Amino acid sequence: MTTERPAALQPEMPATRWGDPAHATGLPEGVRDLVGLVFPIQDTPARSDVAVPASRLSADQLDGLRALVGEANVVLDDGLRRQRTRGKSTPDLLRQRAGDLGDAPDVVVRPGGHDEVVAVLAYAAEQRIAVVPFGGGTAVTGGLVADPAGLTGVLSLDLGRMRGLLALDPVSSTATFEPGLRGPEAEALLAQHGLMLGHFPQSFEYATIGGFAATRSSGQSSAGYGRFDAMVVALRVATPVGDVRLGASPANASGPDLRELFLGSEGAFGVITEVTVRVRPLPEVKEYEGWRWESFAAGADAIRALAQSDLLPTVIRLSDENETAINLADPESIGGEGNAGCLMIVGYEGTPAAVAAKKSAVTAALTDLGGAPQGSGPGEAWAHGRFNAPYLRDSLLDVGVLVETLETVTFWSNRENLYTRVKSALQETLGEGAMVLCHISHVYATGCSLYFTVAAPGGADPLATWLPAKAAACEAIVAAGASITHHHAVGTDHKPYLAAEIGTVGASVLRAVKQAVDPAGILNPGVLIP
Ligand SMILES: Cc1cc2nc3c(=O)[nH]c(=O)nc-3n(C[C@H](O)[C@H](O)[C@H](O)COP(=O)(O)OP(=O)(O)OC[C@H]3O[C@@H](n4cnc5c(N)ncnc54)[C@H](O)[C@@H]3O)c2cc1C
Repeated sequence: MTTERPAALQPEMPATRWGDPAHATGLPEGVRDLVGLVFPIQDTPARSDVAVPASRLSADQLDGLRALVGEANVVLDDGLRRQRTRGKSTPDLLRQRAGDLGDAPDVVVRPGGHDEVVAVLAYAAEQRIAVVPFGGGTAVTGGLVADPAGLTGVLSLDLGRMRGLLALDPVSSTATFEPGLRGPEAEALLAQHGLMLGHFPQSFEYATIGGFAATRSSGQSSAGYGRFDAMVVALRVATPVGDVRLGASPANASGPDLRELFLGSEGAFGVITEVTVRVRPLPEVKEYEGWRWESFAAGADAIRALAQSDLLPTVIRLSDENETAINLADPESIGGEGNAGCLMIVGYEGTPAAVAAKKSAVTAALTDLGGAPQGSGPGEAWAHGRFNAPYLRDSLLDVGVLVETLETVTFWSNRENLYTRVKSALQETLGEGAMVLCHISHVYATGCSLYFTVAAPGGADPLATWLPAKAAACEAIVAAGASITHHHAVGTDHKPYLAAEIGTVGASVLRAVKQAVDPAGILNPGVLIP
């Protein structure tokens, strides 16, 4: 087939905010008043008067890059360099808002295909220029911040021109994408063939296929469609020492699965230039509903029972008591006397027959386990607003309220311990004025991930308010024996905690692979490798 490209591209995100500028509405007056009842309101506009530092690359180096990708694709423009500075975690946004452009790349280079990526990597290795692959720029763990020590500068390798559907194999149910397609663009291309991928992280609007693979992302429908790494069939990766193609068969016993080395490698082992994924028919039916549980523990036990009986629906998530109370305008509406309990969202997608069969079995199981059905209202409300939270975060940052999230994962037997430790660490560090909310976001037969959201008074320096809380949460995660990340990846923020999880031998394996594929150390230096 000839390469298919999206009919419409997502607009660029502003440097200091999330998402499509047309969707940023600000806090409605009534909501602002409500927020003011809980947190001190303090208007904190972003600074836009700080200049981007001058590029450290020489005229000869820039000419060398122009010879590889064309003049128009070597960009020194301040606006684009500002937009390619860091990702979209709250600390990233706070630094941008404060005018801290210290991590701005020296140049943005936009290759048009795999061969140009290979050429840029070879040139960057020769010239000792750090290369930061840039997909959607939605990283939340410092994965887009390279350490240029010992190198001549930093090049942001913007994959936005590589936005094609390269191949479709409807017989095997696979599709091969270039890395720079954003979530909606990839789904729109597949939908023209009656197919879909089914990967819907909250960052769906802006994150890319290559970024999903490079971070081992997980979407909100992971219970039904799986994590992104589980969808990947094959990869093509450009490294400074050559090209790697992995995944010649659906499954094999040809030694260790090297795809796993590059999935989650966060640009430190190579640039993923092609991703072949498993696709499936578009669902004919989508139904989402709410269930109420007396407590977080009761709801968690119910999810575990479903997961361990192979009865998982497409979507399942469970808010704790605090998150349930905050999420619903009227917590009393889901029953209980003054106790909203805990809200579970359950979603079914597929053919009418498959949805009916799964819904009937899940409904029977949840009823037996003590859940109270709440109908489609809460489910539809969740589905409608599922991508809105990052816009709300910007509006709250605008009025001085600190909002950030973090996540972790553990086995079922350790869930309560992990929950208690992380919640206490956040609450104790941020103080009683902070709200700490949690939900179970991704589930397995053996365990689940916990996703925490905090809202707290930002104070004079919101970054200084947040960083000790994040450190305390990470230490609590390590102390609980859980994983430092379920789906946000390691980046630079979680790197100090990785060795505790994979051990010194594990860390040395990562360093050895890095040495083999990137001997000059130009690929995203400082990210991932302990
Ligand atoms: C509001 C918000 C909500 C989020 N929700 C979720 C969620 O629900 N689930 C989830 O999993 N994550 C979530 N994230 C995190 C983030 O969206 C994911 O990590 C995503 O997979 C990153 O994709 P990206 O294209 O934006 O990658 P980028 O941010 O551009 O890059 C991420 C990392 O991968 C590297 N990289 C990117 N592309 C390539 C490539 N082609 N080859 C090699 N390396 C590459 C980069 O150098 C960087 O280290 C969220 C982030 C935000 C801001």
